[in-house]
Amino acid sequence: MQTLTPQTPMATPDIPELVKRLRQSFDSGRTQPIEWRLHQLDRIQTMLREHESELVDALAADLGKPPLEAYSTDVGFVISEIEYVRKHLRGWLKPEKVYAPVAVQPGHARVHRDPVGVVLVIAPWNYPVQLLLSPMVGAIAAGNCVIGKPSEVAPRTSAVMTRLAAQYLDQDCVAVVEGAVDETTKLLAERFDHIFYTGNGRVGRVVMEAAAKHLTPVTLELGGKSPVIVDSKAKLDVAARRISWGKFLNAGQTCIAPDYVLVAKELEQPLVKAIGKAVVDFYGTDPKQSPDYARIVDDRHFRRLEGLMTSGTASIGGDTDASQRYIAPTVLQQVDASSPAMADEIFGPILPILPVDDVDEAIDFVNERDKPLALYIFSESHAVQRQVIDQTASGGACVNATLFHVAVPGLPFGGVGPSGMGAYHGKASFDCFTHRRGVLTKSTRLDPPIAYPPYTSFKEKFLRRVL
Ligand code: NAD
Repeated sequence: MQTLTPQTPMATPDIPELVKRLRQSFDSGRTQPIEWRLHQLDRIQTMLREHESELVDALAADLGKPPLEAYSTDVGFVISEIEYVRKHLRGWLKPEKVYAPVAVQPGHARVHRDPVGVVLVIAPWNYPVQLLLSPMVGAIAAGNCVIGKPSEVAPRTSAVMTRLAAQYLDQDCVAVVEGAVDETTKLLAERFDHIFYTGNGRVGRVVMEAAAKHLTPVTLELGGKSPVIVDSKAKLDVAARRISWGKFLNAGQTCIAPDYVLVAKELEQPLVKAIGKAVVDFYGTDPKQSPDYARIVDDRHFRRLEGLMTSGTASIGGDTDASQRYIAPTVLQQVDASSPAMADEIFGPILPILPVDDVDEAIDFVNERDKPLALYIFSESHAVQRQVIDQTASGGACVNATLFHVAVPGLPFGGVGPSGMGAYHGKASFDCFTHRRGVLTKSTRLDPPIAYPPYTSFKEKFLRRVL
């Protein structure tokens, strides 16, 4: 894993002063014109393009992220998200005409898209560029002032982004504040108009409690155990490759990574064999030597994951190296549904495989647990695909794929129940930070006294007819 000299964290600004400055900017109307929004988005793209290699190095130092993954899932992800927003923003901003009933004629009714004000974005460490900047892009596109708080668990990336944001963005409207629990707690004490949090559910509750004090709406992008169902009619080699890719990308530290697999029991062994082949095809016979395989972010997570290895028998992988925080791509079999690996989100490269009798059993297994962030079904049968999608609930889902729904800007991305609330990406990001303001405009040419007192039986008859 690459090492970088840790950058000196930037001094934490006076947080109440910062929020006050941003609020003054927002109130001045500076962020309202589309030109300001497009210019800031353009600055983020320029910043990412001009500092791509510095960010890729920081991601390698924090997570051992392979350069191609650093580009496709962090830096390049945000660049293409901005491309999409820039193409559509003018259309999204157009007031939407809605039906105006007879009772309000002559007049017209429109939904305006107002920015909400000053927003806070709190990001985690696993895709530290994407998960900080992508919500910030939505907030800026919607015309808000925004403070971003990157994760202290990915300190090099956090430091680079804080420095670059100060250099490239309009500092009176957009800021990135580095820090950990103390700084986040200070930020959460302030009044924001929206808080967007990505991370675990425990801190999600802390965020929601702080937001409640100011009646601030929240978006919570949380995690959970995202299941994969492999039906007896699945195309096994494709399923194995797509599951392995989705699971072992970023060493399993992906919120929508396949957490565990429920497989038709007659396919358990063939699937394990096919996953074994995919792992060798991807990373060679010794994944520790592969430049395309990431590392665990810190010692705490490394120890936690090592502890989960005892939940079953490792039929693939199983080896670890604490000095590099390396955990091999691992498949666990003979896993008890009540074992630690099946209790909480794994968030690492360990994949339990559990045999089931049929799809109904798999559906029941999923539905007995918390609603997950993602769900994946592999089957060539349309009836089974539909049955699984119709009879389960999850934040998002893929049929015969893993993770890729995240790359479709037209699909809202978010959780449901314990995996989160609210959604973003593409238009959903714009909507997330927008107040849909209903505006009725009446003509003054006519002002019939029909709704005004004194009420008469004629007025009542008329109103009963038109309302
Ligand atoms: P983390 O430890 O980086 O925490 C996230 C943020 O919360 C950080 O900015 C951190 O500073 C802040 N924080 C931590 N403790 C706090 C406290 N007590 N008070 C206030 N703020 C606090 O990241 P994490 O929680 O380990 O992230 C992993 C989790 O996030 C997983 O569950 C994963 O599934 C989920 N996740 C979800 C998504 C999604 O899009 N839904 C994406 C990535 C990760």
